[in-house]
Amino acid sequence: MINIENKNKIDIYNKKVTVIGLGLSGIGAAKLANHLGAKVFASDINSNIEIGTNALRLMQNQHIAIETGIHSSKIFHSDLWILSPGIAKDSHLVKKAVKKNIPIVSEIEFASWYTNSKIIAITGSNGKTTTAHVLYEMCQTKNINVIMAGNMGISFSESVLSEIIEPKKTVYILEISSFQLEFTKHLCPYIALYTNISEDHIDRHHSMSEYIAMKLRLVKNFKNGSLVIYNQDDNILTNAFANKKINKNTFSIKSNDTIFQINNDKIYHYSSKQAITKISNISLQGNHNLYNLICAATCASLYGIKNNAIKKVLETFGGVEHRLEHISTINDIKFINDSKATNINSVIVALQTYSQPLILILGGYNKGANFELLLPYINSNNVKAVIAYGEASGQIITALGDAVRSIKIIDLNSAVQKAHSIAKSGDIVLLSPGCASFDQFSNFEERGFFFKSIVKKLEKKP
Ligand code: ADP
Repeated sequence: MINIENKNKIDIYNKKVTVIGLGLSGIGAAKLANHLGAKVFASDINSNIEIGTNALRLMQNQHIAIETGIHSSKIFHSDLWILSPGIAKDSHLVKKAVKKNIPIVSEIEFASWYTNSKIIAITGSNGKTTTAHVLYEMCQTKNINVIMAGNMGISFSESVLSEIIEPKKTVYILEISSFQLEFTKHLCPYIALYTNISEDHIDRHHSMSEYIAMKLRLVKNFKNGSLVIYNQDDNILTNAFANKKINKNTFSIKSNDTIFQINNDKIYHYSSKQAITKISNISLQGNHNLYNLICAATCASLYGIKNNAIKKVLETFGGVEHRLEHISTINDIKFINDSKATNINSVIVALQTYSQPLILILGGYNKGANFELLLPYINSNNVKAVIAYGEASGQIITALGDAVRSIKIIDLNSAVQKAHSIAKSGDIVLLSPGCASFDQFSNFEERGFFFKSIVKKLEKKP
């Protein structure tokens, strides 16, 4: 077995390293381990086209041994496991490896062993990707190689491999989910950002306290120079950090003792009486996005980014695809793609963003959410109708009762056609599904692209 107790002495050369899961992170980890001289074996229980293509490329280009459609007993002949975030720590597979004393780490942990560059890590229940992108834009002014990676679909391992091959002064902006924190050991960010915490992934973490504990693993190895920045308006985070003796800073859109303050619809930096910008100059819509912007701005400011660079990004950042993305306006009806809204809280913030009448499309695969939590917002936020589709449609219709006109539909295509047929000039058709996508799609991106393609076809209709 590889001894992973001392980060500086981990040697994987000529050792058997098994990569479980051939998604983006697994592919990156396999390439990095291979480059470092390990005997890599990669295994994925799935054998769909994406996994098959990934596997084939690894085999052809890196000569890495692979298997798909099965986890054979070979995976246990191993000195180290690099585990996909898709596999839970209480799964049968992981329990068996633990019994055999195989050390198990996540891809993020593994890659972190091979870089001394600073890591700014972003976690939270919602807003991670948006905050990471905003921060990335703000950091472009620094004379440094800024790399964004992690949960948003860019492999950290692959980025570290590029840094090894062509060393450059680098800072990583990493988006990290609770799943990726299950198997960390030495990971120590220079700055850890917490956007917010609300109920999510309880099907995987079992309880809210376990979910919070998992999120807090990001600060457990903090050194003297490390800093956590968290949302002061979030009670769960404020309580979680109250007794932690680490360097802390906070952001808020309500308080006047933070680095950025909001007064009379203007944003101020504490050091100056002059406003940086007006809220009305910001292009991103929604109060939740104001939090994301202020979170990123606080981190950027503490990292030494000047106010004029922060101002520019605050005013020009246009949002990330599949998050409240305006696709098109047809006959004065706006179509918005919020396919990334996979939990109830995301749907709530989407509803709160708009004042126009809404036709809301909900549905997909229910991760255990309670749709009744939407009722107060549906009642008070101009929702004219709800179209429920897919596996969760029955549960949605039952939960909403007669609080709103609700229509049960088989699939997303029919849902969009129905929404279009009942929408009037001035309305918004909002896909903010509040569910995972995998009853009818591979992921939220595929669902979002599909929605966009249907809307584009509607544009062409006479
Ligand atoms: P994440 O990467 O954490 O999933 P994203 O930036 O991709 O977050 O946003 C996902 C969804 O979460 C968006 O569609 C939006 O509805 C919602 N959201 C984004 N930022 C916030 C926030 N700060 N608070 C609550 N919900 C948010």
